[in-house]
Amino acid sequence: MAKVKKYSALRQILKFYKKHIGFYIGFVVILLIKSAISFYGAMLVAEIIAKMMVADYSAVWRVIAINLGIMLVYHALSYLNTYFYKNLENRVRYDLQQTIIESALNIKMSYYDNLGSGVIVTRLTSDIDHISERFKSLTEKVVNIIRRLSYLVYIFFLNVYIGIFVFASVVIVSLVYTIRIHYLSKLKPKVKAQREVVNSKIIETVRAVKDIKTLNCDDNVLELIGDAQDEYIKKDNHEYYVGNLLCKITDSIVSLSDFAFMAISILLMMRYDLTATIFYTCYLYKDHTFTLANELGDFRYKLAECEVCAKRLFAIVYPDEKDIDKYGDNYLQDYEGGIKFDNVEFSYLPEMGVLKGVSFEIKPKSTIAFVGESGSGKSTITSLIGHLYYKSSGQILLGDADIDTLSKQFVRDNIAIVNQFPYLFNLSIRENFRMINSQISDDEILQLCDKVLLTDFIKALPKGLDSIIGEGGCQLSGGQRQKLCIARALCRNVKVMIFDEATSSLDNSSQNEVMEVIKKLSNQMTIILIAHRLSTITFADSIILIKDGKVAGEGTHKELIENNDYYISLYNKSNGE
Ligand code: ADP
Ligand code: MG
Repeated sequence: MAKVKKYSALRQILKFYKKHIGFYIGFVVILLIKSAISFYGAMLVAEIIAKMMVADYSAVWRVIAINLGIMLVYHALSYLNTYFYKNLENRVRYDLQQTIIESALNIKMSYYDNLGSGVIVTRLTSDIDHISERFKSLTEKVVNIIRRLSYLVYIFFLNVYIGIFVFASVVIVSLVYTIRIHYLSKLKPKVKAQREVVNSKIIETVRAVKDIKTLNCDDNVLELIGDAQDEYIKKDNHEYYVGNLLCKITDSIVSLSDFAFMAISILLMMRYDLTATIFYTCYLYKDHTFTLANELGDFRYKLAECEVCAKRLFAIVYPDEKDIDKYGDNYLQDYEGGIKFDNVEFSYLPEMGVLKGVSFEIKPKSTIAFVGESGSGKSTITSLIGHLYYKSSGQILLGDADIDTLSKQFVRDNIAIVNQFPYLFNLSIRENFRMINSQISDDEILQLCDKVLLTDFIKALPKGLDSIIGEGGCQLSGGQRQKLCIARALCRNVKVMIFDEATSSLDNSSQNEVMEVIKKLSNQMTIILIAHRLSTITFADSIILIKDGKVAGEGTHKELIENNDYYISLYNKSNGE
């Protein structure tokens, strides 16, 4: 196995920040100036005390006024800094999301099957937020560490004994912190993974809300989410308790050091020349220096957290080679819509064959129907034609070319699939067409709607093509949705149109209307039909029977109904006999 570089995912994230380095430099420079101001501010406080001790009140007022002035500058700089950081944050988020979505669209369908869309949504949203927030605090931590180191150096300068003592305390506290980080870095990924499980279940619930209501399974859904939440709470509490315990041990060590500091200071005052002012100044700076240990520990912890988020994001941005869609670069200019399967085998999971040597030929512009029991492999065949999955062996030809040699553009330009629940975007009707063809005119859209018998429907809408149709087209009837999806597919001038149970969820009259539309398209392009009501596909030029992942017969309806027992039984079953 190749050696993975430490923080390799974070390095990838840094590339995104590098692009907007100007804003980052602005942010860091202001942080450094602010640090210098707080360092100087602390010195001023010590000076105020020193002047008070010698009753030089005019000097005290002067120093207080200077202090006020620099604090006002400090606040102004803080305000300016939000400008730099907000710009940086939002630009990086934009780039990251764009890159991830682009990459997610090129990942194989099997990757989605395994991961689930809820998990991907979580990564796209909350992981990006986490990275952005952590990156900011990491930068602030680096600047803070520099500031606190300068306090330590200053203490050495004021009194070398106190300097050595404070340094030793910082080392001890840092050690405890290292132990804390060690445990937390192990527990954190587990907590995050479980949160992903909870989130994806919630996202799934929102998606399935209609079915959950009608199936009346609210309680079971709640219980399912509740179980995942319980597991999350257990893991999160464990992480919190361990982290907090070690944190409190650190605090106790800090309190002990405080005590020791006082004791050493008193000894130094008694034996040497430690003045009250130097004592107080060291006391003031000591606290800042102690937090150096926390900052160092926190820095490593946040770095580890950032790496966890980055890794999860980059599993999508830079997936394994095997998870990326693969296409050739061949584009057939004169493709007419012919398809040939030669001994094709395929399985979703390694040990379970779904297609077991399927062979058939579809002539250009013919209408073919696949018929078979549920689970026999019909949709799988259409997914292979659409290059959504990849055959394990055998050959799939589009025209004369092996599908693996054809470009993505070619496959997308020529093959359209309309399934039972095709997705329409939550946009206007016009915008839904323009998502597919950005140049399409209103006249062309209306012509397509005419082809699918939707003219009257569009005319009756108060806002016409501007009407918003809801997420997934939920504001349309089943028949209207399917017809609109067919029209949308037609604006690409495809050569093969696949209807996979496209009418299965429709009532009889909508089904007849959609079938009428499909019949009108036959002879213009290759049509592949899958329908569980076999009476609707009897007009097909040829019907291919699929049984248990194999071809079990082929012919016209007339031929099959006369001498194929399997077809006869399927036909009778679908007619409710
Ligand atoms: P049909 O369309 O004929 O009803 P499919 O082609 O959808 O059948 O499914 C064929 C077989 O493949 C079924 O056993 C089904 O369980 C399995 N299958 C379908 N899709 C997936 C998937 N994404 N992951 C794993 N197995 C699948
Ligand atoms: Mg199917």
